[in-house]
Amino acid sequence: MSVEVSKIVQGVEPSATLAMSAKAKELKAQGETVYNLSVGEPDFNTPDHICDAAVAAMKAGHTRYTVASGLPELKQAICDDYRKRTGFEYKPTQCVVSNGAKHSLHNAFFGSLNPGDEVILPAPYWVSYAELIKLSGAKPVIVQTTEADGFKLTPDAFLAAITPKTRMLLLCNPSNPTGACYSRDELAALAKIVVEKDLVVVADEIYDHLVYGGNGFTSFPTLMDGLQDRTILINGVSKTYAMTGWRIGWLLAPEPFAKKIGGLQSQETSNPCSISQYAAIAALQGDQGCVEAMKVEFEKRRNYVTQRIADIPGISAPPMGGAFYAFINISAHLGRKYGGVQVETSKDWCLELLQQKKVATVMGSAFGCEGYARASFAASMETLEIAYDRIAEFLA
Ligand code: PMP
Ligand code: GLU
Repeated sequence: MSVEVSKIVQGVEPSATLAMSAKAKELKAQGETVYNLSVGEPDFNTPDHICDAAVAAMKAGHTRYTVASGLPELKQAICDDYRKRTGFEYKPTQCVVSNGAKHSLHNAFFGSLNPGDEVILPAPYWVSYAELIKLSGAKPVIVQTTEADGFKLTPDAFLAAITPKTRMLLLCNPSNPTGACYSRDELAALAKIVVEKDLVVVADEIYDHLVYGGNGFTSFPTLMDGLQDRTILINGVSKTYAMTGWRIGWLLAPEPFAKKIGGLQSQETSNPCSISQYAAIAALQGDQGCVEAMKVEFEKRRNYVTQRIADIPGISAPPMGGAFYAFINISAHLGRKYGGVQVETSKDWCLELLQQKKVATVMGSAFGCEGYARASFAASMETLEIAYDRIAEFLA
């Protein structure tokens, strides 16, 4: 018998963000100059003191297996950092460090959901959520939010989506792909429903440091007593410290759950890379000036991109409260020809923009929202200037 793909893996779509980025890299390898606004990752190098800590860790012989759920010192650093920023306590025994926040999300869904469970997933959603939920055997229930509501889940829409099978709400704040950033009151209204309806929340706060325009950030489990018991909090070093390649993320959850997930991980992958874990300790405990410096730069770019989008006729984007993405409404520019090619969908549009203008973005359909395209602004000002000139030319 030949090797066949399992039913559950058959149903999994590859990541569209990574696929668009791969296409951009392919063109680049063919000698083209490509303006890559597809994948969302800081364009900065990992700060020197973090790289130095990794070299020191290797030289000190920290090149062996660690505790499967992560180094105790790293878990302590994660809890200390959270306490410093929010005033709220987590114990290191509530923490599991994994190979990136994406792996933590997989552990969160796989470890807490059963086949048939429903997870409320506000759309537009980051590409990987729906697929990871499906991998756990559960069902993503997509709730469409609107540009008029700033792409935020409203209490009414949340309530309307709840059925007897609903187990979980997925909340990404600040949001990838829309940049929506919930206020404390907006979150509290959702938290109240979570408690009343006895649900669990996966709160993905990986962009918590990247909040602009004087907006404050509220971490979900700090909203009211008892919320910690029903929240799996996701974070990591990828975005905050420009460490996407190091693959360190974590979850914070009730202790019995974290303990079981540590056991699961001991069978799945053993520990995340020992050297990266030491680097992550240096990131969390070192000077935070690098975080502020990168945020200032991102905010400059966000302001620039906001203006460029406002200046191009027929497109719009909701205010970017956080993260580093513009979610651009291109619906008025679909259903027409570009350089002789008929473009009907956001996918067609993104592929033609890449083909004709060498600007890589990601189609809204991959985020559950047709009629939009996501453009990262984690790129240099020079790249952004040229990319938006080309988008304007393309649309004209
Ligand atoms: N959550 C969100 C919302 C993201 O945008 C990303 C970026 N890929 C992740 C999780 C995963 O991050 P990591 O690189 O740590 O796996
Ligand atoms: N979070 C980034 C993005 O959405 C990284 C790529 C990915 O893992 O999807 O583009």
